Amino acid sequence: REIKNYSTAAAIEEPINPGVTVNHTQLLINGQFVDSASGKTFPTFDPRTGEVIAHVAEGEAEDINRAVAAARKAFDEGPWPRMSAYERAKIILRFADLLEKHNDELAALETWDNGKPYEQAAKIELPMIVRLLRYYAGWADKIHGLTVPADGQYHIQTLHEPIGVAGQIIPWNFPLLMYAWKVGPALACGNTIVLKTAEQTPLSALYATKLLHEAGVPPGVVNVVSGFGPTAGAALAGHMDVDKLAFTGSTGTGKIVLELAARSNLKPVTLELGGKSPFIVCEDADVDKAVELAHFALFFNQGQCCCAGSRTYVHESVYDEFVEKAKARATIRSVGDPFKSGIEQGPQIDSEQFEKILGYIRSGVESGATLETGGERFGTKGHYIQPTVFSNVKDDMLIAKEEIFGPVQSILKFKDLKEVIQRANNTSYGLAAGVFTQNIDTANTLTRALKVGTVWVNCFDIFDAAIPFGGYKMSGQGREKGMYSLSNYLQVKAVVTPLKNPAWL
Ligand code: NAD
Repeated sequence: REIKNYSTAAAIEEPINPGVTVNHTQLLINGQFVDSASGKTFPTFDPRTGEVIAHVAEGEAEDINRAVAAARKAFDEGPWPRMSAYERAKIILRFADLLEKHNDELAALETWDNGKPYEQAAKIELPMIVRLLRYYAGWADKIHGLTVPADGQYHIQTLHEPIGVAGQIIPWNFPLLMYAWKVGPALACGNTIVLKTAEQTPLSALYATKLLHEAGVPPGVVNVVSGFGPTAGAALAGHMDVDKLAFTGSTGTGKIVLELAARSNLKPVTLELGGKSPFIVCEDADVDKAVELAHFALFFNQGQCCCAGSRTYVHESVYDEFVEKAKARATIRSVGDPFKSGIEQGPQIDSEQFEKILGYIRSGVESGATLETGGERFGTKGHYIQPTVFSNVKDDMLIAKEEIFGPVQSILKFKDLKEVIQRANNTSYGLAAGVFTQNIDTANTLTRALKVGTVWVNCFDIFDAAIPFGGYKMSGQGREKGMYSLSNYLQVKAVVTPLKNPAWL
């Protein structure tokens, strides 16, 4: 790789044309694109420039009411929960086919609205979404209850029924992937849905849901409301006619929606929240490989991953070599217009996150960590930030404690396993961890000792549809993906019938 000089940032001054048009900016309720009840709209911005891409209908409580009423009717009276599971699966499969067909347009919308590299959206995320929907289509006709043996004269069976109207609130970091994680299992189980997109990234879900209707989903089954958290999001979380809530976002908002759910109708809630995941490089590690993986674990998606390996713990015996190489790797990270081929890092989502990240960088410097590289904005336009590496980070510094959600790697030194386990677990989060070692015993010790929902050993960010994902502690409640996600969208009903004339009498 060529070493990048940050002065080449001029390359991003003229943004590349995304090559896609925005056709859907209204709310999608009961199978129709409609304006918001108030007629209000809000702008969605291009993170490369800060310029407005489109004005989108702004849903509020009244729109949530309309969407919930449509979802309620579709559940209580419509064909979706009543049709055979095989028919439902075929519709989900057709949806996956349509997403695959429109892969490039959807990826372009995602990059335009979010700032992520187009190649990442088109070649990694869209195929993952398609794969995940096919995975859940496969589950649809394999969901069933049990016959339960019990003493006495009763036949007992359990029915696994859809839970009803699911409210789903998603964040901006992986707009369409989070959409798929939510709607895939909910649809497979026969539920109907009201989904609120993040206000920063409303575009791709509207397009995808139009395709879902083309695939044959009946009106009212999936309703998408664009809008803000305290208005549309809160109305959904607190709605009396929503039977289940699934939320992904920050821990602070997770507490708010859990309380809204509890105060309204006690709807069950699943939460995917923040993290401060350790990435542990052991003394036996191949340092070059560890550097590359730790770099990916932190910088992927501009550092905007809830599971980012944002505390890089490195054994003292390889620490100095690791820091030098991590710095060199970050220095050659290719930052630029996310539509350009070969770009690894685009802009941060918006000015708020941009300022927040620069604030954390200042705090790292002020608290005495060593700024190895980066630390400033990249270029003069939009929300680009230089890939930044801190060494000599201490556990009590803000950059080691709080979720930065940006391209800022914090490297900490450790002496032995017992110590690093204690330090890695000393956080209110528990989403994920990375372990880099060639010793199976070390791997086994760490995987069992770390209090997190996912441990990646000698890999990171592996997100196959079948792997459950979720957090310990304040990183969340429940699991998404895999077979575990199905139980979020099912009720279990026990049916007890007297056996009047048992056959064996
Ligand atoms: P957020 O929690 O504010 O937003 C997530 C979703 O919740 C959005 O759709 C938002 O509109 C909605 N929301 C906000 N307030 C709400 C409320 N009162 N009631 C109902 N819904 C509400 O997160 P954010 O502002 O997008 O980002 C802030 C921080 O959250 C980030 O810096 C990061 O730390 C974290 N984050 C985590 C994830 C994750 O996947 N775990 C994703 C995005 C952001």
